[in-house]
Parts: sequence; structure tokens; C-alpha cells
Amino acid sequence: SAKAAGKRTFRLFCTEMEVRLHERVRLEAKLRAALADMDGLFLYYQPITDVRTRAVTAREALIRWHHPGRGWISPAEFIPIAEESGLIRDLGAWVLRRACEDAASWEDGARVAVNVSPRQLGTGTLASAVLDALFASGLSPDRLEIEVTESALLGDEKAGLADLRRIRDMGVRVALDDFGTGFSSLAHLRAFPFDKIKIDGSFVRDAVQRPDCAAIVGVVADLGRRLGVTTVAEGVETQAHLDLVIAEGCSEVQGYLLGRPAPRAADLPRIADLTAPFPTRKTA
Ligand code: C2E
Ligand code: MG
Ligand code: MG
Ligand code: MG
Repeated sequence: SAKAAGKRTFRLFCTEMEVRLHERVRLEAKLRAALADMDGLFLYYQPITDVRTRAVTAREALIRWHHPGRGWISPAEFIPIAEESGLIRDLGAWVLRRACEDAASWEDGARVAVNVSPRQLGTGTLASAVLDALFASGLSPDRLEIEVTESALLGDEKAGLADLRRIRDMGVRVALDDFGTGFSSLAHLRAFPFDKIKIDGSFVRDAVQRPDCAAIVGVVADLGRRLGVTTVAEGVETQAHLDLVIAEGCSEVQGYLLGRPAPRAADLPRIADLTAPFPTRKTA
């Protein structure tokens, strides 16, 4: 009967929700444990290259998690869990500290770019986390760059901007990430003196086929030039992408063509252990 069918659907729905909820609760517990022992969490670094000089001006720190049972889990999956569970504060503080420590040992003096979650903004705690990381590492503030997305400013914009102002007053640079996606607004560029605009990779990748996307890349590059702001094209995967974003006037480029995110040297042996499905021991 229809009633029985309805009951079955309802039960199926509940079971699915339960399974997802359980999975989420378990992931959160595992993430909490990983954070407590600093086990399975790594920072990878991807170069950002100046178009004119070809020098690496910065490296973006990108977090990686190796889950004991599931293997590598994308930040797109676990960052939201960290945000909703409140773990993002400790996670964010760890990323800042580790990134600044790593950058302090880079011989080329490149800056390090650190992503900051919306949940880390507007709470009044960002400045002290940044200060801690700079103090512990001895890194000069002008070698740190904080990346925020526009969505980070959508909640309590005043409080968010106040946090950004505090770190910029220390000499830390601030970049607007994924520009053009989500709720883009020129008002953000008026409200805060960003040092850098990062044009989302989706525009860059479409621009070769679509003149409208190329036009958007070009207009943002022009905007950056007139504002005196560096513009980075993200997601540059091919020579055609590179040629296009250079022609459109972007000042810096980032993407697989120029370098994939890679583990820091110190983590290499551990990563190799983790990824080898059947660790083989050298005989003789
Ligand atoms: P994002 O900040 O926009 O980082 C760029 C993403 O694009 C990275 O994905 C990077 O691996 C990827 N990417 C770089 N070059 C290319 C390319 O040529 N083609 C394509 N298809 N992709 C490219 P990833 O590492 O998976 O990170 C995803 C997002 O997770 C980041 O986007 C950032 O929003 C967030 N995230 C990563 N690490 C952290 C972190 O430490 N803290 C916080 N709060 N968020 C983080
Ligand atoms: Mg970023
Ligand atoms: Mg981005
Ligand atoms: Mg992104």
C-alpha cells in the first residue's frame, strides 16, 4: 500500500541520514585525534610565480590529511567539519605556526600564503594566532600572506575587517582568494586595501574556449593594475592557459603547469610510507 511504501521510504531516508551522521561524527573524532597527536596532518606547498621575473614570490600552504582508514581526504571535505565542530581554531593555529616555521627556512625568501577560514575571522583571535606564529618562527611579517575568500566577509563584515586590519597593521599581507566566485562584490575591494587578488581557476581554465571568461580575467587584471594590487591567475594547467593570462595582464600565476602542491622535504619519507600500499623491505 501507499502507506507501507511511505513508511519504507521514511525508514530508508532515516537510515541514510544516520549513516551519514555517523560517518561525520567518526570523521570529527578522528580529526580531533589527529590534531591532538599531530599525526597524519601535513602541509603541502604550491609555488606562485611572477610572470615577468619567473621567480617564485610565494608558496601557498595547502593542508593534507591522511586518515588512518580512508587514506587521503580532501580539505574540501574535512575543513567544513573542522569549521562546524570548532576544531578549525586549533587547526588554523597549527597551520599558521607550521607554515611560518617552514617559510623561515626557505633560502629564496619567498612569502608563505596561508588560507584562513571564515570561522577564524571576526572572532578577535586571528591577530594573536598570527603573532604567535611569527614570534615562534622568527619570520618577518612581510613574508606572511593571509588568504581570505569573499564569503569570509559575508557574516559579521565589520568584525572580519577589523581582524584583517589588525594583521595588516603588523605588516602581514592580505589576499582576496577565489575572486569572481560566490558573492563577488567590488564593495569588498573598497572596504579593505587587499594586497592581492586571486582570480579563481574556473575562469582561467574556461578562458581559452570562452572569450567572455578571458574578458573577465582581463578586466580583473586591469582593475588590479589600477588599484596597485597584484593579480594572480589560479589554476594554470597548460601553456595555453599561461599564454592567455599573461596576454590578459595578470602579474602572477599559480597552477599545475608551474608546480603541483608538494610536501615539505621533512615529510617526504613519512608520506612515502603512507602511500605505499604494500611496504617492501629492502633485502640484503
Ligand atoms: P584554495 O585556497 O583556492 O586553493 C587552491 C586549490 O586549487 C588547492 O586545492 C590546489 O591544490 C588546487 N589547484 C592548484 N593548482 C591547480 C590547477 O592547476 N588545477 C586544478 N584543478 N586545481 C589546482 P586543495 O589543496 O584541494 O584545497 C582546496 C581548498 O581547501 C583551498 O582552496 C582552501 O579553500 C581550502 N584549504 C586548503 N588548505 C587549507 C588550510 O590550511 N586552511 C583552510 N582554512 N582552508 C584550506
Ligand atoms: Mg587559497
Ligand atoms: Mg583559490
Ligand atoms: Mg578555492
